[in-house]
Amino acid sequence: MDSKAGKRAEDKTDDKSREGAIRPFLWYWIFGLLLFMFSQSLFELMTTSPLAYSEFKQLLHAGKVKEVTVSETTVAGALKDSGLDAVLPKQRADAIKCGADGSCPFTTVRVDDPGLVKELEAAQVRTVGQQRSEWLSTLLAWVLPILLLFWLWSSMLKRGGGMAAGLFDIGKSRARVHMQSSTGISFGDVAGADEAREELMEVVEFLKNPERYRRLGGRIPKGVLIVGAPGTGKTLLAKAVAGEAGVPFFSISGSEFVEMFVGVGAARVRDLFVQAQKVAPCIIFIDELDALGRARGIAGAVGGYNEQEQTLNQLLVEMDGFDTGKGVIILAATNRPEILDPALLRPGRFDRHVALDRPDLRGRQQILQVHVRKVLLATDVDLGRIAARTPGLSGADLANLVNEAALLAARRGKDRVDRGDFDEATDRVIAGMEKRSRLINPLEKETVAFHEAGHALVAEFRAHADRVAKVSIIPRGIAALGYTQQLPLDDRYLLRKSELLDRIDVYLGGRVAEELVFGDVSTGAQNDLQMATDLARHMVTQYGMSERLGLAAFEQNAASLLYAGAAGPHRDYSERTARLIDADIARLLDEAHERVRATLCERRTLLDRLAHVLLEKETVDREALDALIALR
Ligand code: ADP
Ligand code: ZN
Repeated sequence: MDSKAGKRAEDKTDDKSREGAIRPFLWYWIFGLLLFMFSQSLFELMTTSPLAYSEFKQLLHAGKVKEVTVSETTVAGALKDSGLDAVLPKQRADAIKCGADGSCPFTTVRVDDPGLVKELEAAQVRTVGQQRSEWLSTLLAWVLPILLLFWLWSSMLKRGGGMAAGLFDIGKSRARVHMQSSTGISFGDVAGADEAREELMEVVEFLKNPERYRRLGGRIPKGVLIVGAPGTGKTLLAKAVAGEAGVPFFSISGSEFVEMFVGVGAARVRDLFVQAQKVAPCIIFIDELDALGRARGIAGAVGGYNEQEQTLNQLLVEMDGFDTGKGVIILAATNRPEILDPALLRPGRFDRHVALDRPDLRGRQQILQVHVRKVLLATDVDLGRIAARTPGLSGADLANLVNEAALLAARRGKDRVDRGDFDEATDRVIAGMEKRSRLINPLEKETVAFHEAGHALVAEFRAHADRVAKVSIIPRGIAALGYTQQLPLDDRYLLRKSELLDRIDVYLGGRVAEELVFGDVSTGAQNDLQMATDLARHMVTQYGMSERLGLAAFEQNAASLLYAGAAGPHRDYSERTARLIDADIARLLDEAHERVRATLCERRTLLDRLAHVLLEKETVDREALDALIALR
């Protein structure tokens, strides 16, 4: 228990010292009480003589009863000390225990005897009626098993380890509030997110000077939602806002609210706001908002449902309740805005959205620049070139790349990180760690070689496809057995139909090469086929690129659903249209298949040659590829 308390040392809202003192005390108390009650009843049992009802009646008629207490089920009382053996047989009379005060307590079972009261009156016995009072037995029958169960349960939970807290840890949820009085991060640390930075500048201004804004009566945003893929710098940006404004930064993660005890998350949210308001102006950052802000009604896990809903409700209540004038601003991050409860996005809550995209070419170069500040670079390192080779990588990936390069250089005992280190780090980060040790059998290797050669050649002989930078059959990561890396000349935001068709061709290149060479196909093309199909579907249903279906768009994209507040994609076309769409997708793919087959058949010698070089050298770079093609 102590070690647990230690781990939670940063949790400002825990009151462990107080709780810790109460806990053993409480148990001693309960135990003492039970012991007391038990000994009492034992004492009573030992000093009281049980009588048969007939014996009691005999004694009553003989005037030997001093007093009785009548309850619903028993008659108890005291007998006179003398002459009992005149009424009862000697053996029974001797069994009656008498105290020093001359009275002999007895008890008997009460039977249905309507005349009893009259007889008691006649014998002039002091009679006390008693309400049913079986508090002891009630207590033993109900409370004891419950206590026992509680005890068993809590000790089981404790043994269960980190996932579940012990019974008395209810108040200490896993959801931890982290408070940093200053983050030490500025906008200078966030590269390539100019628009997002611009939008958050206003928040910084407000936090720096809430008075001025309040006086002018401007409406201050309460909540800003930062939307972006993992690793695009959402947390970094939120910290930078706090850093720029010089205010404390509270952070909490939505996923930590998946608790087992209902009500804990809500309490935590309440605490969070209380604390934040004390130190305002400040920033509250909720990471992974989707984990707790999932639309009510589509929440997943059993049991987690109520908890999540309660926590979400509490968050909404707090957001509505507090006054922005005090200078508390809530930033939240998510990469799945479409599943958020619409209530969260209403005005007065997270009504501002800042999008963080994966960085473009310039952005990537800037991010690399930020991260190489701490690295000793050799003069041959060209960040622009690295940026060009890494389309699609996020800020976190690029930070990782720089770190990887520095580690490689250190391992090789270099003074500076040079171009070679960066090249290798790039390869690693792009396709996962090299796994040279992984054994693949020769046939598999050949299949992969022809497959990749197929992708590469189709890309080479399509006017609108990106240029091939490198082909490799080194197994990397978990899924990919090889890869063909294409180098786009620019980041593209608009693509023409001809370009999309060429892309589909390149995706199919691997599969078609397998068909041609082996007359058989493998599972290696699964991802390619998925990508090709998705692209074809988009062309037909969203881009209006199908002659037969014309310009109609059939599926809304997720982003517009978010703002429309709908719960998920829905179909607003007929069964007949659905069939047409499917037919058109199939047609696009079939046509692509024919084109690719033609291309590769025509260049069969080149395909074989490239595959063999791949089998031999494992990788073929741009220059080697050019040389191969020139041989023709
Ligand atoms: P997210 O919260 O979006 O998952 P993070 O903010 O945690 O991503 O980013 C992880 C790391 O990636 C950061 O600590 C930083 O080193 C790096 N990073 C991400 N985006 C950027 C960026 N735009 N500029 C500089 N570094 C970045
Ligand atoms: Zn492939």
